[in-house]
Amino acid sequence: MTAANSRPRASSTGAAIPQSAQSQPARSADIDLAAIRHNVATLAAHVAPAKTMVVVKADAYGHGALPVALAAQAAGAHIIGTAHLEEALALREAGLTGELVAWLHTPDAAFAEALAADIQIGVSGWELSRVISAAAAIGHPAQVHLKVDTGLGRNGCPLPDWPALLAEAAAAEAAGHIKVVGIFSHLAMSEELAHHCTPDQLATFEEALGYVREAGLNPTYRHIANTAAAIAWPEAKYDLVRVGLGTYGLSPFADKTPEDLGLIPAMTLRTRVANVKDVPVGTGVSYGWRYHTHDGSRLALIPMGYADGIPRPAVAGPVSIHGTTYNCVGTVAMDQFVLDLSQHPQAQATVNVGDEAILFGPPPAPSATAWADAAGTINYEIVTRISPRTPRRYRNAEFRLTLHTAEHTSAFAAALAGYLRPGDGIILSGELGAGKTTFTQGLATGLGIEAAITSPTFVLARHHENPTGPQLVHVDAYRLTDAQELYDIDLDRTVPDAITVVEWGQDKAEELFTSWLQIELIREVGGAADTTDFSDEDVDEPRQLIIRPHGPRFQTLTAIQELAQLVAAAATGGEEPQP
Ligand SMILES: *Cc1c(COP(=O)(O)O)cnc(C)c1O
Repeated sequence: MTAANSRPRASSTGAAIPQSAQSQPARSADIDLAAIRHNVATLAAHVAPAKTMVVVKADAYGHGALPVALAAQAAGAHIIGTAHLEEALALREAGLTGELVAWLHTPDAAFAEALAADIQIGVSGWELSRVISAAAAIGHPAQVHLKVDTGLGRNGCPLPDWPALLAEAAAAEAAGHIKVVGIFSHLAMSEELAHHCTPDQLATFEEALGYVREAGLNPTYRHIANTAAAIAWPEAKYDLVRVGLGTYGLSPFADKTPEDLGLIPAMTLRTRVANVKDVPVGTGVSYGWRYHTHDGSRLALIPMGYADGIPRPAVAGPVSIHGTTYNCVGTVAMDQFVLDLSQHPQAQATVNVGDEAILFGPPPAPSATAWADAAGTINYEIVTRISPRTPRRYRNAEFRLTLHTAEHTSAFAAALAGYLRPGDGIILSGELGAGKTTFTQGLATGLGIEAAITSPTFVLARHHENPTGPQLVHVDAYRLTDAQELYDIDLDRTVPDAITVVEWGQDKAEELFTSWLQIELIREVGGAADTTDFSDEDVDEPRQLIIRPHGPRFQTLTAIQELAQLVAAAATGGEEPQP
C-alpha cells in the first residue's frame, strides 16, 4: 500500500475508533431519513385511497431535495412536487425517476427542457400557450395540471377566466399537444378548523370542477389539500394530496404537536459549546447589551447565528445541553449567540466547552416550533432557512435495488467498487445462496483483483492483494461471537488501507469501521433453499439488494447522491435478464 492510497485516520494509535468516540462536526443539520419514510407512510395511509404528492420545494424545506424525494418514493409517495422547474430538473439530473411536477414559473422558464425531462407542469394562465408551443416543438404531449384560484389570491386562474382557460386546454388536448392530468388549487387557512375559508374554497373548487366536466376534460388528479387539510379536512382529499410540512415531521396546527399527529421531526440542528465563562453581576451580553446578567452568571457560547439561519429576533430560543434546556439571552449575532447557564443553577456545572448543544429536533429536544415562537414566525421557516453553511448529515438512508441475475449482481458490485475508498467496510448479509460470493467476486473485479473469490468460511479472513489499488479483505464472521474476535485476527490492522467485506458481520463488525455500508441480499424466490448448498449462487433468479450507509463518509449529501446514481444506473441497466 502506497502512502498516496492510505487515508488519514482519526487516531494515531492505529486502533479502530468506535463510532461513538469520533469527533462530531462543529455543526450539522442531521436529517433522519427513517423519520421521513415514517411520516410519508403515515400520511399516505391516512389519506388512502387518495394518492400522495410529497412537496420538496426549497431543497425539501431545508432537508435536501434528492434524499427526501428518494425516501418519500420508497415510503409510497406517488408524485414529487416542486415550485420551480429548475428544482424539478435538478432532481431528474440527479437520477430521480417517477412522476414529478412544478407549478411556479416566470416567462423565461425552460418549458421544452422540462417536457423533455418528463416533468409535469402546473399552469395558471399565460403559461398554457408557452407549454403548447414547447410540446409542439419537442413532438410529444405535455402533462399539465391546471390551477384555479379558489380564494388564496396568489397564483391560479380566477374563476371568471377559468372557462376560457379550460376551452384553450381542451382544444390543445384534442390537437394532441397536451394532456390535462390534473386540476388543482391551494388553500389559504386549512390549519384554522373553525374558519369558513376552507369550506368556501372547497365549494368554489367544486364549481371549478363543474366547468372542467363541461369542457370535456377528464383529469386523473383533482387536488387541493396541503398537510393541514390532508390531516383535518377529509372532504379535501380528492384524488391526491400535496404534503410538505408533515413529511418533515412538523405540525401545522397551533394546538397539536407532531407526536399528537404520529409524526417524527426529521431535522436535528446541533452544534458544540464554543466557550464557557463566569462573569460578574450586571455584565452586558452581546450586541446592544440587550441583556445584563442578574446574578453572578456562567455564560455558554453557541457558535451558530443568523448566517446559519438562526433568526436574529429569536431572543429566548431554546438549546438543550445534556438534557437541560437553556434559553438564548441577548442578540443573536451572525455567527453566535449566548446562553445564561445560571438559568439552571444545578445543571450549569456540567456544561463544558465541546459539549453537544441541540437547538431543535425530535423530543425530548426543543422543537423547531419553539424557535418559531421565539422568532415570531412559523416552523416552516425555521427549518427552511437553515443555511448551506451548516452541513446536512443523512442518517438511516436506505437504497433498494432488484438484481435480476448473477451477472447483474456482479456488475453492480463492480460499479460499487469504484465508489469505495481504503478504510471503507461492507457488512454483507444474506442467507446461504443469496449471492454473497457472487457480489464479492464482482467487487474484486471492480477493484482490479483477478483472483477467484471463494467463501472464507473455513479461514475466517482472506486477503486479496491488489497491485493497482486497495487490497480486498474478505471475512466470514459467522463463527465469531463478538467484535473482540475480529480484533484477535488483526483486522483492525488491515482495515485502514483495505476494502473489507465482512459476511455475517452484523452487530459485530461495525466497530471496525469509521464508515461502512450494510448490504443485505435477499432471495426473492423463497421456499426450498437447501441451506447447505453453496452451489446455487449462480442461479439466475432475482435478488433484492438493500444498502444502508453508515458513518461520516457516507452521510454527506454528495455520498447519498453518488449512491443514488449508482443504484439508479443499475436499476435501468439490469431490466433485461441475460440469457
Ligand atoms: C408548499 C405547497 C404545498 C405544501 O404545503 P404544506 O402546508 O407544507 O403541506 C402544497 N401545495 C402547494 C401549491 C405548495 O406551494
